Amino acid sequence: MIKIKFLGALNEIGNSGILIESNSEKILLDYGLKVFENPPKTPLKVENVNYILLSHSHLDHSGYITYFSKNKTKIYALRASKEITNILLRDNLKVLRQKKVNFPFNENDISKTISKFRNVSYEKVFEKRGFSFKFIDSSHILGASMIELEIDNKRILYTGDFKLKKTNLTFGCSFPEKNPDILIIEGTYWYKNLPERDKLEKEFINDIKEVLDKDGTILLPSLAVGRSQEILTILGKYNIHKEVDIYLDGMVIEISKVYQKFENYLNERKYFLEAFKNSIKVKRKAQRKEIIMKNDPKIIICGSGMLEGGPAEYYVKKIYNNENNAIFLTCYQVENTTGRILLETGRLVTKDGFNKKVKSRYKLYEFSAHADRSELFEFIEKVNPNIVFVVHGENLEKFEKELNERGIQAIVPTYENNLFISP
Ligand SMILES: [Zn+2]
Repeated sequence: MIKIKFLGALNEIGNSGILIESNSEKILLDYGLKVFENPPKTPLKVENVNYILLSHSHLDHSGYITYFSKNKTKIYALRASKEITNILLRDNLKVLRQKKVNFPFNENDISKTISKFRNVSYEKVFEKRGFSFKFIDSSHILGASMIELEIDNKRILYTGDFKLKKTNLTFGCSFPEKNPDILIIEGTYWYKNLPERDKLEKEFINDIKEVLDKDGTILLPSLAVGRSQEILTILGKYNIHKEVDIYLDGMVIEISKVYQKFENYLNERKYFLEAFKNSIKVKRKAQRKEIIMKNDPKIIICGSGMLEGGPAEYYVKKIYNNENNAIFLTCYQVENTTGRILLETGRLVTKDGFNKKVKSRYKLYEFSAHADRSELFEFIEKVNPNIVFVVHGENLEKFEKELNERGIQAIVPTYENNLFISP
């Protein structure tokens, strides 16, 4: 008999965590934070976990694993996930301290947690007492995986975050060899299809060239893990790095080094490696002023995808007031963030009280690393599970209804109804 308890990301995005419990073991799939809440929302508490199988490094999946720093819990993940998680956990701690949020862990707890990691590789089966598991490429970010778990004669597939189609950096997700009994799937984009990738890429490059032709500065606030590297790859593919200076500022530099180290996992690695090598890495804060003072056309990539905090906030305040410049957002903008407010009102509103009308161009390009609506349906129909649990998305009851209408048994767990027992 197994029990599945859903601990977070229930009809919302953030604080992912799923507990799989058999008679002998407690296994946790992810344990993240809802980072945009203050203090960040955590998953429901669980104790005495034997194993954490970590799908990927994003903080909404990894941000609360420090909770187990003093336990004997072993954490399994790809090596790249371990390295990126280490960077993200430390950065998150810094950010929370700046925001004066009381977070019950310190650097030492992070070090202890990181020492609990065990490396896995894609498609390798790990046999443990009473269960086995396998990590499968989920094509989301570097190291991201689906997790296939066989326990008490049940086969469970957890997708984590995934993408069916390939991107510049990923190859499209792999499929499990056998159909799962239970599928636990993310539903971020269940409600819409994303723009066609090639078209979007060309539009993005055309817009960039227009701004550069006017000697403008382009700020590309991009998620530090995955999106920044993909943006660099696109710029490399169209030789933009040979025409103008591309600056990288913030955590994106450190994360890109991990991408460089694990280049074999990257699809269009040649373009990424070249653009990264040619980019100018901002090492000191004082350099920022010099960059802004230069009149040459230029591109600045920094790792706060929604224009909140970090170097992005510095640069945006310097460039917003000139119509030759541009702020090109490259990821989904969460409600109430500076990026979302810019798109909705045309104003630059930051947490320190800054509130001005934006004269520069601004636009959103939806380069997503998640499966969209058509990819989700295609995936579910292909793997053909007996039952689907949908997590990590909003208004999922409508998705549940659509799946049920198509003859697929689907359930959206909620905080009120989050425990399922399978005979
Ligand atoms: Zn993710």
